[in-house]
Amino acid sequence: MYKRILLKLSGEQFKGNRDHGIDPEFIGWLGEEIKKATAEGTEMIIVVGGGNLVRGAAFAKNGIDQAPADYMGMLATIMNGIALTEMLEKAGQPTRLMTRLRTESVAEPYIRRRAIRHLEKGRVVVIAGGTGNPYVTTDTASVLAANELNCELVMKATKVDGVYDKDPETHPDAVKYETLSLSEAASNSEIRVMDRSAIAMAADNAVPILVFKLEEDSIKEAVQGNSHGTLVQ
Ligand code: UDP
Repeated sequence: MYKRILLKLSGEQFKGNRDHGIDPEFIGWLGEEIKKATAEGTEMIIVVGGGNLVRGAAFAKNGIDQAPADYMGMLATIMNGIALTEMLEKAGQPTRLMTRLRTESVAEPYIRRRAIRHLEKGRVVVIAGGTGNPYVTTDTASVLAANELNCELVMKATKVDGVYDKDPETHPDAVKYETLSLSEAASNSEIRVMDRSAIAMAADNAVPILVFKLEEDSIKEAVQGNSHGTLVQ
């Protein structure tokens, strides 16, 4: 069992069974799954994405400058963070929402030592607002936070059950990797684990990443070291 891990939830997960936006019912289920996973004492930081609402790159193509588009994206992650915090607390899991983007009315400012204190007290720490800086994504925010908070593993929940040599949704002959090295994931552009800057930072700092499918009990299994996903290390 891991002692402290970081779970990356992309915006895709917040969409649940809807076409876009936020699916509170699905997030309710997610809250229960996370509660189950932390029941034996694993400390958990969750970095939330925002692609279900706003992805900066898409807006930047349509006339809004990249930096303001990215700020819109960061605000989107805070909406997801609020929803997740609500549902975690409803599931009985004490939680704190922290952010590096200044929004004190809805979230605590991120302070490393405070985040660690929350974890030690058995609270899940949800980090929204990414890094607080434009031009990067929440993948980078995840690797940064995992480094800074001494996490043993980054767990990236996805729709597929691991890393494949090509996109398994469009290539029926795609082959899944059971394990993969961080250096290969960083150098082979065909392999998509996280975006390039995030995977480069993970490789430089030897932060292992588990890519796994989000389904019943899969977060708990991953926390216990029994995941069926791909471990990139
Ligand atoms: N973003 C940013 N800086 C960060 C993290 C996120 O500017 O440190 C913006 C960026 O525009 C990004 C959006 O927030 O597209 C939503 O985050 P992301 O795309 O990582 O969400 P996900 O793909 O995980 O749903």
